[in-house]
Amino acid sequence: MSELKQEQNLKQALATETKAQEASSSDILLELKGVSKIYETVNALQDINLTVRKNEWISVMGSSGSGKTTLMNIVGCMDKPSTGAVLLDGQDITKESQKSLTTIRREKIGLIFQQFHLIQFLTAVENVMVAQYYHSMPDEEEAMAALEKVGLKDRAKHLPSQLSGGEQQRVCIARALINNPELILADEPTGNLDEENEQMVIGILRRLHDEGATIMVVTHDPEVGDEADRKVVLDYGRIKEIVDLKALKQN
Ligand code: ADP
Ligand code: MG
Repeated sequence: MSELKQEQNLKQALATETKAQEASSSDILLELKGVSKIYETVNALQDINLTVRKNEWISVMGSSGSGKTTLMNIVGCMDKPSTGAVLLDGQDITKESQKSLTTIRREKIGLIFQQFHLIQFLTAVENVMVAQYYHSMPDEEEAMAALEKVGLKDRAKHLPSQLSGGEQQRVCIARALINNPELILADEPTGNLDEENEQMVIGILRRLHDEGATIMVVTHDPEVGDEADRKVVLDYGRIKEIVDLKALKQN
């Protein structure tokens, strides 16, 4: 990218970031204010400020070690920042107890990881039902409906070892969707997949976005990254640039 283009993008990104902050608070799902995370000597995140609107799709990119997973863990209520505030629906999650964080995560957030974390001795539908168990009550019909959504109804009784990588990832997505989360966090969801399965996962994310979900996706893949409304690039724990892809696509 030319320097001028980069500067234009940065300007536009700052303008949309300001606009996002000005949006009425009911439009905002997530706000990070001065978020830092320090591991002994490593500044994994430094002074991150970001406002995410409801139904926005954000991609998080940056080289290995730039803080992407740390950011997702903090937003996903799995870790707390060293300093700063994280407002989810206006509630500062950095001030909540572990117990209440578990509830928030269960009710509002769907997590999709690169590693599938499926239980190997349970079938696809049973793996989805484990998530229901933590949320409410296992309900096979509902779990089957979730599998149908990701095109896996006919694989419901298969064990993970009998499924391809792409199919296992789709079981994970079905599992993440069981509570109808308003925020979907995906850390390298296509990292282990071939092109065809990557397209399938992108298609599922696109549909969830169309249905109203807010999405944050960490990815190394420019094609996946470009699906977003805005792309946040991290570098050594800081935001290096925010690209307003939506505005660029409209121009
Ligand atoms: P990314 O996901 O972008 O590869 P991470 O968020 O995993 O980056 O890591 C950011 C930085 O924080 C790295 O330098 C990493 O080594 C460090 N880090 C991450 N987790 C820990 C931890 N639990 N203890 C110490 N350092 C960590
Ligand atoms: Mg990572």
